Amino acid sequence: MAVRAHLETGAQRVVVVGAGFIGAEVAASCRARDIAVTMVEPLPQPLARVLGEDMGRVIGEVHVEHGVDLRLGVGVDRIEGGDDVDGLTVHLSDGSSVAADVVVVGIGVVPNTAWLEGSGLALDDGVVCDATTLAAPGVVAAGDVARWPNPLFGEVMRVEHWEHAVDMGAHAARRLLAADGEAVAYAPVPWFWSDQYDRKLQLAGRVRPTDEVRIVAGSVEDRRFTALYGRGGMVVGALALNMPARVVKYRQAIANGLTWVDAVATLDPPAP
Ligand SMILES: Cc1cc2nc3c(=O)[nH]c(=O)nc-3n(C[C@H](O)[C@H](O)[C@H](O)COP(=O)(O)OP(=O)(O)OC[C@H]3O[C@@H](n4cnc5c(N)ncnc54)[C@H](O)[C@@H]3O)c2cc1C
Repeated sequence: MAVRAHLETGAQRVVVVGAGFIGAEVAASCRARDIAVTMVEPLPQPLARVLGEDMGRVIGEVHVEHGVDLRLGVGVDRIEGGDDVDGLTVHLSDGSSVAADVVVVGIGVVPNTAWLEGSGLALDDGVVCDATTLAAPGVVAAGDVARWPNPLFGEVMRVEHWEHAVDMGAHAARRLLAADGEAVAYAPVPWFWSDQYDRKLQLAGRVRPTDEVRIVAGSVEDRRFTALYGRGGMVVGALALNMPARVVKYRQAIANGLTWVDAVATLDPPAP
């Protein structure tokens, strides 16, 4: 709402710092209002930290096709200006500068756990829980702030998605109510979506930039495809652009332990 209020003051030029999901969605929303957008990202591709460079490149191309001035591999040195001057100037690490009416910085979040220091809970980029969401006897954590070992992926994770917060909250409540010996592990396949322009991006699973990636349906050129991410012989993620049904199917298959070999074998025709 704050960003919208700034845009409605007649902003013509927006600089978005950080091409993660927040930055990418803000950029798309600004372009829908016909506002000029420069998006600045120090990594080689947008969303590379989450999707890897190949899929990040595709999303970057979608933004460029919609008129975003995408500056990759550069950071921000400083921002000059303020309320008392006409506009802002964003100075970039490559020596260039960009004029802006509004600057939106979307560079990640930090769990707010300072108030728990000294409480006896283990804190490490969030509240550390066991596999059942228990942080200490009688204490559970859920949502963005909770870090727990997800047995489905063999990985200690912290997930920042809305649906996850709801599901983990319900699981944590059941954990508090569970009788001794009846607590069960929380083992979800994380899932989220992001709407950018007329594209709906959906990701199920837990992917890393180093995973093997294979397009299994549609095509990158059509900006409508499904890609699988594989690691250690298993399918660990499914990414779809405007192919929602596939992600639902693969999310269930990942929960059931779909192997990479089986996933590729069932393709028709087989993926190259
Ligand atoms: C700009 C933005 C866009 C997003 N878009 C998406 C999206 O499209 N899809 C998606 O899946 N996710 C999205 N997310 C992530 C999603 O919002 C979070 O994953 C979700 O809100 C997490 O819920 P939560 O209850 O764990 O934490 P929060 O929603 O952050 O709620 C935590 C609450 O605890 C309060 N609190 C903090 N400390 C204390 C304290 N000491 N005492 C009492 N209260 C306290 C906070 O004020 C806050 O109200 C987005 C996040 C942001 C910031």
